Amino acid sequence: MAAGRRSLCLLLTLFSVLRVIAKKVLPGDKPVCGVAMNAFPQPSPVIVEPYRSCRLCPRRCGVNRVVGERGVCGESAELRVAAVEAHYGEEPPISGVHGSGTVFFSGCSLRCAFCQNYQISLFHTGKVTTVPQLVDRLEELYRSPGIHNVNFVTPDHFLPHTVAVVEELHRRGLRLPILYNMSGYAEKDSLKMLQGVADIYLPDYKYADADLARALSHAPDYPQIALDALVEMVRQVGFLDERPIAERGVLVRHLVLPGHIQNSLDALTTLFLEFGRDLPISLMSQYWPARPVKQPEMNRRLARNEFETVCEHADALGFRRLFVQRTDGNDDDFLPDFRRERPFKGNIRNTDNKD
Ligand code: SF4
Repeated sequence: MAAGRRSLCLLLTLFSVLRVIAKKVLPGDKPVCGVAMNAFPQPSPVIVEPYRSCRLCPRRCGVNRVVGERGVCGESAELRVAAVEAHYGEEPPISGVHGSGTVFFSGCSLRCAFCQNYQISLFHTGKVTTVPQLVDRLEELYRSPGIHNVNFVTPDHFLPHTVAVVEELHRRGLRLPILYNMSGYAEKDSLKMLQGVADIYLPDYKYADADLARALSHAPDYPQIALDALVEMVRQVGFLDERPIAERGVLVRHLVLPGHIQNSLDALTTLFLEFGRDLPISLMSQYWPARPVKQPEMNRRLARNEFETVCEHADALGFRRLFVQRTDGNDDDFLPDFRRERPFKGNIRNTDNKD
Protein backbone atom coordinates (compact mmCIF):
# COMPACT_ATOMS: atom_id res chain seq x y z
CA MET A 1 0.00 0.00 0.00
CA ALA A 2 2.78 2.42 1.03
CA ALA A 3 4.57 1.70 -2.24
CA GLY A 4 1.29 2.36 -4.10
CA ARG A 5 0.84 5.72 -2.32
CA ARG A 6 4.45 6.67 -3.10
CA SER A 7 3.87 5.89 -6.79
CA LEU A 8 0.68 7.95 -6.76
CA CYS A 9 2.50 10.89 -5.14
CA LEU A 10 5.28 10.56 -7.69
CA LEU A 11 2.74 10.54 -10.52
CA LEU A 12 0.95 13.63 -9.16
CA THR A 13 4.26 15.49 -8.80
CA LEU A 14 5.22 14.53 -12.34
CA PHE A 15 1.81 15.68 -13.59
CA SER A 16 2.22 19.11 -11.89
CA VAL A 17 5.69 19.55 -13.36
CA LEU A 18 4.39 18.64 -16.83
CA ARG A 19 1.52 21.13 -16.44
CA VAL A 20 3.96 23.93 -15.60
CA ILE A 21 6.15 23.04 -18.59
CA ALA A 22 3.13 22.79 -20.90
CA LYS A 23 1.88 26.21 -19.75
CA LYS A 24 5.19 27.70 -20.81
CA VAL A 25 5.39 26.14 -24.26
CA LEU A 26 1.86 25.70 -25.59
CA PRO A 27 1.10 28.18 -28.40
CA GLY A 28 -1.65 30.02 -26.50
CA ASP A 29 0.67 31.11 -23.72
CA LYS A 30 3.93 31.01 -25.58
CA PRO A 31 6.52 33.15 -23.84
CA VAL A 32 8.00 35.79 -26.08
CA CYS A 33 11.73 36.43 -26.00
CA GLY A 34 11.96 34.30 -22.87
CA VAL A 35 9.43 36.39 -20.95
CA ALA A 36 6.21 34.86 -19.66
CA MET A 37 2.95 36.75 -20.28
CA ASN A 38 2.20 37.66 -16.69
CA ALA A 39 5.66 39.05 -15.95
CA PHE A 40 4.49 42.47 -17.17
CA PRO A 41 2.03 44.89 -15.65
CA GLN A 42 -1.39 44.21 -17.13
CA PRO A 43 -2.76 47.09 -19.23
CA SER A 44 -5.73 49.03 -17.93
CA PRO A 45 -9.25 47.57 -18.39
CA VAL A 46 -10.04 50.29 -20.94
CA ILE A 47 -7.22 49.05 -23.15
CA VAL A 48 -7.99 45.40 -22.60
CA GLU A 49 -11.76 45.38 -23.24
CA PRO A 50 -11.73 45.40 -27.08
CA TYR A 51 -9.36 42.40 -27.06
CA ARG A 52 -11.79 40.18 -25.13
CA SER A 53 -13.81 39.18 -28.15
CA CYS A 54 -11.61 40.71 -30.78
CA ARG A 55 -13.30 42.30 -33.77
CA LEU A 56 -10.78 45.07 -34.26
CA CYS A 57 -10.24 44.30 -37.93
CA PRO A 58 -12.37 42.86 -40.76
CA ARG A 59 -11.23 39.32 -39.89
CA ARG A 60 -13.56 39.58 -36.86
CA CYS A 61 -12.05 36.50 -35.21
CA GLY A 62 -13.95 36.92 -31.92
CA VAL A 63 -11.08 35.36 -29.92
CA ASN A 64 -10.21 36.37 -26.38
CA ARG A 65 -6.72 37.77 -26.76
CA VAL A 66 -6.60 38.71 -23.07
CA VAL A 67 -6.26 35.04 -22.11
CA GLY A 68 -3.69 34.43 -24.82
CA GLU A 69 -5.95 33.32 -27.67
CA ARG A 70 -4.79 34.43 -31.08
CA GLY A 71 -6.69 35.19 -34.27
CA VAL A 72 -5.39 35.77 -37.80
CA CYS A 73 -3.01 38.51 -36.63
CA GLY A 74 -1.32 35.99 -34.35
CA GLU A 75 -0.99 38.35 -31.38
CA SER A 76 -2.42 38.18 -27.88
CA ALA A 77 -3.38 41.32 -25.92
CA GLU A 78 0.24 41.83 -24.90
CA LEU A 79 1.77 44.75 -26.73
CA ARG A 80 4.68 43.58 -28.87
CA VAL A 81 6.95 45.79 -30.89
CA ALA A 82 9.76 44.91 -33.30
CA ALA A 83 11.46 48.28 -33.76
CA VAL A 84 11.13 51.94 -32.79
CA GLU A 85 13.34 54.41 -34.62
CA ALA A 86 13.54 57.61 -36.62
CA HIS A 87 12.75 56.57 -40.19
CA TYR A 88 13.96 58.48 -43.23
CA GLY A 89 12.40 56.39 -45.98
CA GLU A 90 8.85 57.78 -45.94
CA GLU A 91 7.59 60.47 -48.32
CA PRO A 92 9.30 63.89 -47.80
CA PRO A 93 6.39 65.54 -45.91
CA ILE A 94 6.38 62.58 -43.52
CA SER A 95 10.10 61.93 -42.93
CA GLY A 96 11.20 65.56 -43.21
CA VAL A 97 14.77 66.11 -42.07
CA HIS A 98 14.63 64.57 -38.61
CA GLY A 99 12.75 61.40 -39.52
CA SER A 100 9.40 59.90 -38.69
CA GLY A 101 9.08 58.15 -35.32
CA THR A 102 8.12 54.70 -36.55
CA VAL A 103 6.76 52.00 -34.27
CA PHE A 104 6.75 48.59 -35.98
CA PHE A 105 4.32 46.21 -34.29
CA SER A 106 4.67 42.44 -34.33
CA GLY A 107 2.00 40.51 -36.25
CA CYS A 108 -0.48 41.63 -38.90
CA SER A 109 -4.12 40.98 -39.67
CA LEU A 110 -3.69 41.02 -43.46
CA ARG A 111 -0.64 38.74 -43.75
CA CYS A 112 0.20 39.27 -47.43
CA ALA A 113 2.28 36.43 -48.87
CA PHE A 114 4.79 38.89 -50.33
CA CYS A 115 5.09 41.12 -47.25
CA GLN A 116 8.28 43.16 -47.27
CA ASN A 117 8.23 43.09 -43.45
CA TYR A 118 7.49 39.35 -43.25
CA GLN A 119 9.85 38.84 -40.31
CA ILE A 120 7.48 40.78 -38.11
CA SER A 121 4.13 40.34 -39.88
CA LEU A 122 4.34 36.58 -40.48
CA PHE A 123 7.08 35.38 -38.12
CA HIS A 124 6.26 37.70 -35.22
CA THR A 125 9.74 38.96 -34.44
CA GLY A 126 9.45 41.45 -31.60
CA LYS A 127 9.53 42.01 -27.88
CA VAL A 128 6.83 42.45 -25.30
CA THR A 129 6.68 46.01 -24.09
CA THR A 130 4.39 48.33 -22.14
CA VAL A 131 2.77 51.63 -22.99
CA PRO A 132 5.08 53.67 -20.68
CA GLN A 133 8.17 51.91 -22.06
CA LEU A 134 7.12 52.68 -25.61
CA VAL A 135 6.38 56.32 -24.74
CA ASP A 136 9.82 56.59 -23.06
CA ARG A 137 11.45 55.49 -26.31
CA LEU A 138 9.37 57.92 -28.39
CA GLU A 139 10.23 60.72 -25.99
CA GLU A 140 13.91 59.86 -26.43
CA LEU A 141 13.54 60.12 -30.21
CA TYR A 142 11.64 63.37 -29.84
CA ARG A 143 14.60 64.84 -27.91
CA SER A 144 17.06 63.55 -30.53
CA PRO A 145 16.98 63.47 -33.53
CA GLY A 146 13.70 65.34 -33.07
CA ILE A 147 11.18 63.23 -35.00
CA HIS A 148 8.41 65.09 -36.82
CA ASN A 149 5.63 62.68 -35.92
CA VAL A 150 4.75 59.35 -34.35
CA ASN A 151 4.20 56.73 -37.04
CA PHE A 152 2.32 53.57 -36.01
CA VAL A 153 3.14 50.95 -38.66
CA THR A 154 0.47 48.24 -39.17
CA PRO A 155 -1.15 49.00 -35.82
CA ASP A 156 -4.64 47.60 -36.63
CA HIS A 157 -4.45 44.73 -34.15
CA PHE A 158 -3.08 46.97 -31.36
CA LEU A 159 -5.31 50.03 -31.81
CA PRO A 160 -6.39 50.28 -28.14
CA HIS A 161 -2.73 50.34 -27.09
CA THR A 162 -1.93 53.06 -29.62
CA VAL A 163 -4.71 55.24 -28.19
CA ALA A 164 -3.18 54.76 -24.73
CA VAL A 165 0.26 55.70 -26.11
CA VAL A 166 -1.15 58.93 -27.52
CA GLU A 167 -2.87 59.75 -24.22
CA GLU A 168 0.40 59.23 -22.37
CA LEU A 169 2.32 61.36 -24.89
CA HIS A 170 -0.19 64.17 -24.36
CA ARG A 171 0.02 63.75 -20.60
CA ARG A 172 3.77 64.34 -20.90
CA GLY A 173 3.16 67.43 -23.04
CA LEU A 174 4.37 65.86 -26.30
CA ARG A 175 2.00 66.95 -29.06
CA LEU A 176 3.37 65.44 -32.23
CA PRO A 177 1.21 64.62 -35.26
CA ILE A 178 0.00 61.04 -34.86
CA LEU A 179 0.19 58.97 -38.01
CA TYR A 180 -1.53 55.64 -38.69
CA ASN A 181 0.34 53.71 -41.36
CA MET A 182 -2.09 50.93 -42.31
CA SER A 183 -2.67 48.09 -44.77
CA GLY A 184 -6.03 49.62 -45.70
CA TYR A 185 -7.88 46.50 -44.56
CA ALA A 186 -9.50 48.28 -41.65
CA GLU A 187 -12.76 48.02 -39.78
CA LYS A 188 -14.80 51.22 -39.99
CA ASP A 189 -15.91 50.99 -36.36
CA SER A 190 -12.30 50.63 -35.22
CA LEU A 191 -11.34 53.69 -37.22
CA LYS A 192 -14.02 55.64 -35.39
CA MET A 193 -12.06 54.91 -32.21
CA LEU A 194 -9.27 57.01 -33.76
CA GLN A 195 -11.40 60.09 -34.40
CA GLY A 196 -9.55 62.94 -32.71
CA VAL A 197 -6.51 60.71 -32.10
CA ALA A 198 -5.20 60.22 -35.65
CA ASP A 199 -3.88 63.31 -37.41
CA ILE A 200 -2.52 61.60 -40.49
CA TYR A 201 -3.52 58.36 -42.19
CA LEU A 202 -1.11 56.60 -44.52
CA PRO A 203 -3.22 53.68 -45.77
CA ASP A 204 -2.38 51.33 -48.63
CA TYR A 205 -4.85 50.66 -51.38
CA LYS A 206 -3.29 47.37 -52.47
CA TYR A 207 -5.89 45.63 -54.56
CA ALA A 208 -8.72 46.49 -56.88
CA ASP A 209 -8.75 42.84 -57.98
CA ALA A 210 -10.64 40.60 -55.54
CA ASP A 211 -9.06 37.42 -56.93
CA LEU A 212 -5.59 38.80 -56.42
CA ALA A 213 -6.54 39.90 -52.90
CA ARG A 214 -7.74 36.37 -52.21
CA ALA A 215 -4.62 34.75 -53.67
CA LEU A 216 -2.10 36.97 -51.90
CA SER A 217 -3.86 37.98 -48.68
CA HIS A 218 -6.85 35.64 -48.25
CA ALA A 219 -9.03 38.74 -48.34
CA PRO A 220 -11.30 38.82 -51.41
CA ASP A 221 -13.32 41.58 -49.73
CA TYR A 222 -10.25 43.86 -49.59
CA PRO A 223 -11.18 46.20 -52.49
CA GLN A 224 -14.50 47.30 -50.98
CA ILE A 225 -13.43 47.21 -47.33
CA ALA A 226 -10.32 49.27 -48.02
CA LEU A 227 -12.35 51.77 -50.04
CA ASP A 228 -14.90 52.16 -47.22
CA ALA A 229 -12.04 52.59 -44.74
CA LEU A 230 -10.52 55.30 -46.93
CA VAL A 231 -13.82 57.17 -47.05
CA GLU A 232 -13.90 57.15 -43.24
CA MET A 233 -10.28 58.33 -42.99
CA VAL A 234 -10.89 61.19 -45.43
CA ARG A 235 -14.06 62.11 -43.53
CA GLN A 236 -11.99 62.42 -40.33
CA VAL A 237 -8.93 64.31 -41.52
CA GLY A 238 -9.31 65.28 -45.20
CA PHE A 239 -6.48 65.09 -47.74
CA LEU A 240 -2.86 65.45 -46.67
CA ASP A 241 -1.59 68.95 -46.12
CA GLU A 242 2.04 69.59 -47.01
CA ARG A 243 3.70 72.49 -45.25
CA PRO A 244 6.45 71.09 -46.01
CA ILE A 245 6.02 68.74 -43.04
CA ALA A 246 2.54 67.24 -42.99
CA GLU A 247 0.36 67.72 -39.95
CA ARG A 248 -2.97 66.33 -41.05
CA GLY A 249 -4.74 64.35 -43.74
CA VAL A 250 -4.72 61.18 -45.81
CA LEU A 251 -2.02 60.05 -48.22
CA VAL A 252 -2.82 56.78 -50.02
CA ARG A 253 -0.03 54.41 -50.94
CA HIS A 254 0.05 51.84 -53.68
CA LEU A 255 2.86 49.34 -54.16
CA VAL A 256 3.03 48.14 -57.75
CA LEU A 257 3.32 44.34 -57.89
CA PRO A 258 5.32 42.66 -60.67
CA GLY A 259 3.12 40.92 -63.22
CA HIS A 260 -0.05 42.61 -61.91
CA ILE A 261 -0.09 45.94 -63.64
CA GLN A 262 -3.81 45.75 -64.44
CA ASN A 263 -4.49 45.61 -60.69
CA SER A 264 -2.59 48.87 -60.27
CA LEU A 265 -4.36 50.56 -63.17
CA ASP A 266 -7.74 49.53 -61.78
CA ALA A 267 -6.78 50.63 -58.26
CA LEU A 268 -5.92 54.10 -59.53
CA THR A 269 -9.13 54.33 -61.54
CA THR A 270 -11.16 53.30 -58.48
CA LEU A 271 -9.47 55.93 -56.33
CA PHE A 272 -9.99 58.59 -58.96
CA LEU A 273 -13.69 57.79 -59.30
CA GLU A 274 -14.21 57.88 -55.53
CA PHE A 275 -12.06 60.85 -54.51
CA GLY A 276 -11.11 62.78 -57.64
CA ARG A 277 -7.75 64.04 -58.81
CA ASP A 278 -6.79 65.93 -55.62
CA LEU A 279 -6.34 62.76 -53.60
CA PRO A 280 -2.64 62.56 -52.68
CA ILE A 281 -1.18 59.24 -53.84
CA SER A 282 2.22 57.68 -53.37
CA LEU A 283 3.20 55.19 -56.07
CA MET A 284 5.89 52.80 -54.92
CA SER A 285 8.23 50.71 -57.07
CA GLN A 286 10.35 49.14 -54.34
CA TYR A 287 8.77 45.67 -54.40
CA TRP A 288 11.36 43.00 -53.82
CA PRO A 289 10.85 39.23 -53.47
CA ALA A 290 11.47 39.17 -49.73
CA ARG A 291 10.56 35.47 -49.63
CA PRO A 292 9.43 33.02 -52.32
CA VAL A 293 5.71 33.09 -53.10
CA LYS A 294 3.53 30.65 -55.06
CA GLN A 295 3.00 33.15 -57.89
CA PRO A 296 6.13 32.80 -60.08
CA GLU A 297 5.65 36.23 -61.68
CA MET A 298 6.24 37.80 -58.28
CA ASN A 299 9.57 36.23 -57.51
CA ARG A 300 11.42 39.10 -59.13
CA ARG A 301 11.74 42.84 -58.87
CA LEU A 302 9.37 45.16 -60.66
CA ALA A 303 10.42 45.99 -64.24
CA ARG A 304 10.97 49.66 -65.02
CA ASN A 305 8.42 49.65 -67.88
CA GLU A 306 5.77 48.15 -65.56
CA PHE A 307 6.16 51.04 -63.14
CA GLU A 308 6.19 53.62 -65.92
CA THR A 309 2.91 52.22 -67.30
CA VAL A 310 1.27 52.77 -63.91
CA CYS A 311 2.72 56.29 -63.55
CA GLU A 312 1.45 57.20 -67.04
CA HIS A 313 -2.04 56.04 -66.08
CA ALA A 314 -1.96 58.18 -62.93
CA ASP A 315 -0.94 61.17 -65.07
CA ALA A 316 -3.64 60.42 -67.63
CA LEU A 317 -6.29 60.36 -64.89
CA GLY A 318 -5.07 63.79 -63.83
CA PHE A 319 -3.89 63.08 -60.27
CA ARG A 320 -2.19 66.30 -59.23
CA ARG A 321 -0.56 65.27 -55.99
CA LEU A 322 1.57 62.28 -56.85
CA PHE A 323 4.58 61.08 -54.90
CA VAL A 324 6.61 58.70 -57.01
CA GLN A 325 9.13 56.44 -55.30
CA ARG A 326 11.47 55.10 -57.97
CA THR A 327 14.38 52.80 -57.12
CA ASP A 328 17.22 51.60 -59.31
CA GLY A 329 16.62 48.02 -58.15
CA ASN A 330 19.91 47.81 -56.27
CA ASP A 331 19.15 50.16 -53.46
CA ASP A 332 18.73 48.13 -50.28
CA ASP A 333 18.81 51.05 -47.85
CA PHE A 334 15.20 50.50 -46.86
CA LEU A 335 14.94 46.74 -47.14
CA PRO A 336 14.56 45.81 -43.49
CA ASP A 337 16.12 43.09 -41.41
CA PHE A 338 14.21 43.02 -38.14
CA ARG A 339 16.74 40.70 -36.51
CA ARG A 340 18.83 43.84 -36.08
CA GLU A 341 17.96 46.42 -33.47
CA ARG A 342 17.99 49.04 -36.23
CA PRO A 343 16.49 47.21 -39.21
CA PHE A 344 17.08 49.81 -41.94
CA LYS A 345 20.59 50.62 -43.19
CA GLY A 346 19.28 53.90 -44.64
CA ASN A 347 18.25 55.09 -41.18
CA ILE A 348 21.63 54.25 -39.68
CA ARG A 349 23.42 56.10 -42.49
CA ASN A 350 21.18 59.12 -42.06
CA THR A 351 21.76 59.34 -38.32
CA ASP A 352 25.53 58.84 -38.74
CA ASN A 353 25.68 61.66 -41.28
CA LYS A 354 24.09 63.98 -38.74
CA ASP A 355 26.66 63.20 -36.04
S1 SF4 B 1 -7.08 42.06 -34.71
FE1 SF4 B 1 -6.36 39.94 -34.87
S2 SF4 B 1 -7.67 38.75 -33.50
FE2 SF4 B 1 -8.65 40.74 -33.79
S3 SF4 B 1 -10.09 40.43 -35.45
FE3 SF4 B 1 -8.21 41.16 -36.38
S4 SF4 B 1 -7.00 39.35 -36.91
FE4 SF4 B 1 -8.63 38.73 -35.51
